[in-house]
This record gives sequence, C-alpha cells and structure tokens, in this order.
Amino acid sequence: MFALDYTSPRAGRGPEELVPSRYALQVGELDVLVVSDGVLPLPAATMATNADPADLANWLDHMFLPHDNFDWPLNVLVVRSGDRTILVDAGLGSQFPGFPRAGQFPSRLEAAGIDLASVTDVVITHMHMDHVGGLLVDGLKERLRPDLKIHVADAEVRFWAQPDFSDTDMPAPVPDVLRSTATRFMDEYRDQLRIFQEKHEVAPGVVVRLTGGHTPGHSVVDLASGGERLTFAGDAMFPVAFDHPDWHNGFEHDPEESARVRVGLFRELAENGGLLVASHLPFPSVGRVAVDGDAFRYVPVIWDY
Ligand SMILES: [Zn+2]
Repeated sequence: MFALDYTSPRAGRGPEELVPSRYALQVGELDVLVVSDGVLPLPAATMATNADPADLANWLDHMFLPHDNFDWPLNVLVVRSGDRTILVDAGLGSQFPGFPRAGQFPSRLEAAGIDLASVTDVVITHMHMDHVGGLLVDGLKERLRPDLKIHVADAEVRFWAQPDFSDTDMPAPVPDVLRSTATRFMDEYRDQLRIFQEKHEVAPGVVVRLTGGHTPGHSVVDLASGGERLTFAGDAMFPVAFDHPDWHNGFEHDPEESARVRVGLFRELAENGGLLVASHLPFPSVGRVAVDGDAFRYVPVIWDY
C-alpha cells in the first residue's frame, strides 16, 4: 500500500494541509491512489450548453449550488502494478494564473511519499490543459525519469496537430490556451510518447482504451485484478451527467458522440458493478453507477478514511 507518512521531511512543504487530498484503495493486487489536483471554477453554463437555462438553474438549486460558477473537482490517479508506477493524467499545473486552487498534484504526490522519479509511465486520457498541464510545470520534467513512457492515443496526437473547436462552447481565451498547451506538451514530450491505436496494456491489469467523444482520442483506463475492477473515465462524465447524460459540455469537441460514450460507459459500469473514478467527480470520486430510469445514479462506496 502507499505509505501515508505525515512525519518524514517529504511530507509536504510549508504547513500541513488540513485534508491530505489523497485516497488509497486496492483493486486486487493493484495499489491505487486518487490524488486531488484541486478545483477549477468555470461558468456553470458550460456544463449544459444544449439545455434550457431554467433547467440548469433547477438542477443547480436541487444540488444547493450557485448559478454563476461551478467548482470543477480535478482528480489524478496513481496505480502501482508490480514494479511499475503509473500516473493517469497530471492535473492542471500551477502556470495558469486564473486557477489558483488547482495545480496541486505535484506537491500532493510528494506529500504522499511518491517520488516523481519513481513514476515509470504516464497515461494521458486526452490533451486538454487540465490533464497535461501538470507535466509542464517549471522544473518538473527534470525530476522525471529519462525513460518515462507516456501513453496516448494516436487519434489524440493527430487531432491536436490541427484541432477543431467548431462544436465546442468554451469561455475565451480557453481554446487558445488549450491549443498552446497541447502544442507545448507535444514539443516537450514527443520522444517519450508510446502511441496506441484502440487498446493497450500499460502494465499487468492496467489497460487504456480509446473511447473518443470528448476529444477524438479521449481514452479511459480499466484496472482489473483479482476479480475486482475500476475504470478511470477521464472526461467522459461530469457531476451533472448522472441526472442529465444528454446534456452537452462546452469542452466536448464532439458533444453528440460524447453523450453516446458517456451512456455506454454508465451502462457498462452498471452492468459489471466495477468502481468508477473520473477526473471531474467530487474527490475522492470512488463509487459505482446504477441505472435510474432514463438516467443514472452515482453510488459512492463507503469511503474508508
Ligand atoms: Zn478535464
């Protein structure tokens, strides 16, 4: 298991955090850690670009949430399989001044006792800034192993060579920042990419598979060991998606396909009973999915703190 070490000199710089913002669990033989990168506030309207604003307002009221901004949780996953330490996404990074509450992942990983130099693999669900930005923090690349492998779908790499934002609905200047961040990520890490087509076993029990939808190369990670399962669903779903799986998110490059992918994953998880963790579900985001008429229900596990 991951050591929860509060006493070593590595246990965080500056004052201790009130909440360590990491959650450990096991999936069979695999050690899994969900790490919060923080939250990023965005206009609430981006979560329902094809819905009647009154319906969105009702949903927000129903959830006791304000109407203007929605705090998107942002989670990163760490998996240990044998001698491999695999990072799934890398958070936002601290280089975007508009989001001071996100970009926590490098220090929280360190506080969890995980040395960046021990990471053997990174899986990128997609190349949006809140998933690759953490790898672009000043000085971070130098702390990674030179033989680090970064797994990403071929369709994702090809998409960002000439990205299409025509079906998205994002606040300015987000599209430009997404473009430049993806370009910088490719420039910095091109030589370390391990590009896969449909499906790829990163390590025993750790498989990444292409879903498309949110971006053309969007992928999810399936963990399976000892009869237990967990799927890290990236941006296939957001908190509103259980009640309104057909609502489009402004960050989806193909909103119709995104809704199909979302519903497909929900049905699959409801069927197989596997655990779900997603980038933007509230930390620690470990739960299951149940079918609820035409919608779905999120069923958190009993979080074992
Ligand atoms: Zn995201």
